[in-house]
Amino acid sequence: MGERSRAVLTLGRLDIEIIHLDTLAASLTAQLGDQVKVKAADLATRRAREAVARALAAQKDAEFTLAQLEARITDHDARLWSGKGSPRDLESLRQEIERERVRRGSLEEAALAAMEVTARTERDAARVQAAVSKALADMNTGNLSRVAERTDAHARREATARQRAALAAAMDPADLAAFERIRARVADGVPVAELSGARCEGCRTDLPTAFAQRVRREVAPQACPSCSRLLHAPN
Ligand SMILES: [Zn+2]
Repeated sequence: MGERSRAVLTLGRLDIEIIHLDTLAASLTAQLGDQVKVKAADLATRRAREAVARALAAQKDAEFTLAQLEARITDHDARLWSGKGSPRDLESLRQEIERERVRRGSLEEAALAAMEVTARTERDAARVQAAVSKALADMNTGNLSRVAERTDAHARREATARQRAALAAAMDPADLAAFERIRARVADGVPVAELSGARCEGCRTDLPTAFAQRVRREVAPQACPSCSRLLHAPN
């Protein structure tokens, strides 16, 4: 007894399983396509590298200015020691060299400060790179398991679909037609429900006892008078 209604119930459960596996596969595909983290990592790395490049450029500028000044001091020193020119010229040259030496002191400080900035940005960039590498490695590991999970979901879906086709082929054609017809009408797309006692578990309606007895007695699956789902009484 109830073999036909059991087949209808099983068909409904296979449909639910197929929908679940499709949803799972779609969600895994969406997660695999999530490139936000990769973009954030790229941006952080690029900014850190740009900061290093700027610091290096500033350091080179400071060193170049210092080198130019040192060349001038060397030149002026040579001219002063050569003793060529009037005493007045030599005195003004000596004064200029003194001013240049003061300026050299401040340029040396600036060059040192620029070197420190470069070293600091290089340390920052190394820290960012390490953090980014770790985050990307973690994500790749996650993606590997997502791909495996999706492959598994596809395989299970195919197996479930084959099971459904085999069951539908073996079912009473009238039951299958009723199943498909009611499936198109019910909101959740599940045209079957269990009967517990006299209660339809699909719409949670307590049905007349006499009707519940008929569901258990009849060979053909009976539709719930309230929600029209095909009923199966497990006991
Ligand atoms: Zn019902």
